[in-house]
Amino acid sequence: MRCQACGKHRPTRRVVFYRNIGALVMRFSNQIDGNLCKRCINSYFFEYTAVTLAVGWLGLISFFLAPIFVVHNVARYCGTLGLPADYPGGSCHGEHPTESLTRDAAERLLPFAQEIGDRLDYGEDLDAVAADVAPRANVSAVQVELFVEAVATKGLRA
Ligand SMILES: [Zn+2]
Repeated sequence: MRCQACGKHRPTRRVVFYRNIGALVMRFSNQIDGNLCKRCINSYFFEYTAVTLAVGWLGLISFFLAPIFVVHNVARYCGTLGLPADYPGGSCHGEHPTESLTRDAAERLLPFAQEIGDRLDYGEDLDAVAADVAPRANVSAVQVELFVEAVATKGLRA
């Protein structure tokens, strides 16, 4: 799964965080809603909740709204605590070599591009195709998925 905030290939969880900025008669609220990785969940949670705590309650509606937002954010955040920061075996320092589409992996996958495309067109599940092709191309299943994404977006397929 790709994080919708940073675009990295990491485990994600669907979250919604709210932020409120009270300005006496007006108020400004916004929200982040999407499948995010742990790092992005952390940064959005702290930013949205800290701003709401600091200036969220200034104003009539805001005075009642801000605590609800904060409680909501904390509850949603607690629900993501079990989410791993990375895939098993993934490194904290930069992209793990088997979790990014290296030039090497792309070259090894090129001979399988037609087969992968045909099988996906035929309605086969990407996970199943990736699991089957990865050992034959000597790449990881994640790389097969990244390859398919790259091909789908850039049209590398002949
Ligand atoms: Zn992220």
